[in-house]
Amino acid sequence: MIQFDFKKDCCGCGACIASCPVNAISWTNTDEGFHVPTVNEDICINCGKCDRNCPVLSDKEKALSASEIDVWMAANKNKEELSQSASGGVFYGIANNILQNSGVVAGVVWNESMQAVYSVSNQQSELEKMRGSKYVQALPQNCINEVLEYLKQGKKVLFSGTPCQIAGLIKCVGHPENLITCGIICEGVASPLVWKVYKECLENKFGSQLINAEMRSKCDGWSGGSSRYTFANEKQYIQKRCFSLDPYIAGFIEGLFNRPCCKECKFKGVSENCDFLIGDFWGFTKEQKAKNENRGMSTVISCTPKGKALWNELFEDFLCEQVSYELVCKSNNIEHSGHWAKNREEFLEKIEKQSSREFEKIVWTCSGKMLKKKLMKILQNIGILDIMQCFSKEL
Ligand SMILES: Cc1cc2nc3c(=O)[nH]c(=O)nc-3n(C[C@H](O)[C@H](O)[C@H](O)COP(=O)(O)OP(=O)(O)OC[C@H]3O[C@@H](n4cnc5c(N)ncnc54)[C@H](O)[C@@H]3O)c2cc1C
Ligand code: SF4
Ligand code: SF4
Ligand code: SF4
Repeated sequence: MIQFDFKKDCCGCGACIASCPVNAISWTNTDEGFHVPTVNEDICINCGKCDRNCPVLSDKEKALSASEIDVWMAANKNKEELSQSASGGVFYGIANNILQNSGVVAGVVWNESMQAVYSVSNQQSELEKMRGSKYVQALPQNCINEVLEYLKQGKKVLFSGTPCQIAGLIKCVGHPENLITCGIICEGVASPLVWKVYKECLENKFGSQLINAEMRSKCDGWSGGSSRYTFANEKQYIQKRCFSLDPYIAGFIEGLFNRPCCKECKFKGVSENCDFLIGDFWGFTKEQKAKNENRGMSTVISCTPKGKALWNELFEDFLCEQVSYELVCKSNNIEHSGHWAKNREEFLEKIEKQSSREFEKIVWTCSGKMLKKKLMKILQNIGILDIMQCFSKEL
């Protein structure tokens, strides 16, 4: 029966739940708002499957070296597809190919309560919802067993998600030929409880239910970063320079409320678990940025023969160039864990106790960014930020 410090080390992939033959495991939430498994000892038959399939308890996958992988910078040539995606629209390009071949796609969507959840579907309309980064940990729901079922039927399945979620999936389903995995390069996932508090804060402010959150909207170009929140009463809240000025996104980037296991992530690096690893591409030159019209670029790593073969079929749909692994490692945390705020515990304690109206103040105080945020606001109001943006890759 699976047993370790869930609060600290569990990544919430649900491989244990998916593999339990007697449904003895269910989710509970930690006081920080992350889902962790709990075992009903009255039902457990001690078969040990949960231990064997837990990616945290298993040995780390062998890392692939730079000479074994192909690394690209890429942007979807279809401007409409590119504009709806978080960076270069690579996920959408791969996923469309799978759907066109009667396959199935798994990725993260907002559900009707605006919680991030993994969804498995063969519908184009569901694929549209998977686009865009949801900076909060997604609940796996029953995605592992749904994928297993489709694989058994011989369907092609594309599974996209965090590398830890993919590691859990692979422990349960292995490496069948009809499965393609697309890992999202990530520095961590945020607490669903903190997202809920922020959502309520926005709903109070705008007097209506939140119905969509675009945390990497391109409404003001890509590299500066904007967030756009849409409400049922048709109001919209757009925050330009969201990495610095949207309290939820700035707090996430600072590592104020990420899952504890992300602090020393066991799933960093490149392994055969992911046929593709995709993320933002920041190593562009001025000329490349101009050619791209600041619409977004992705890093694409094709890691396995399966990933390389599929990319060979697809790469003509992208403006792309092969680049070195060293170049992408300079600006992406592929090998190392991301930021971890020293005031994380203080932040989470305050958020639990105080009303959602205080959200913004608590973020800026605990991240030590109050002054920077005030200065940025002043610069934005007098238009200086827009001028600086022309000379900078990322502000
Ligand atoms: C939580 C999170 C952290 C990230 N951190 C980094 C980073 O540090 N460095 C970096 O280079 N890139 C990071 N990214 C990836 C980046 O934002 C883009 O998602 C990626 O470049 C793909 O862009 P795209 O245009 O091809 O895909 P899009 O069309 O935008 O598709 C988004 C893809 O991300 C998946 N996704 C969305 N939200 C989640 C979620 N909460 N959990 C799991 N999967 C999700 C969707 O299923 C879909 O496959 C992060 C993404 C997320 C979700
Ligand atoms: S040991 Fe077997 S029965 Fe018990 S919780 Fe784990 S998978 Fe379920
Ligand atoms: S299998 Fe996944 S959810 Fe279950 S204990 Fe291990 S890491 Fe946590
Ligand atoms: S940083 Fe590591 S543990 Fe955290 S979500 Fe990403 S892959 Fe999973």
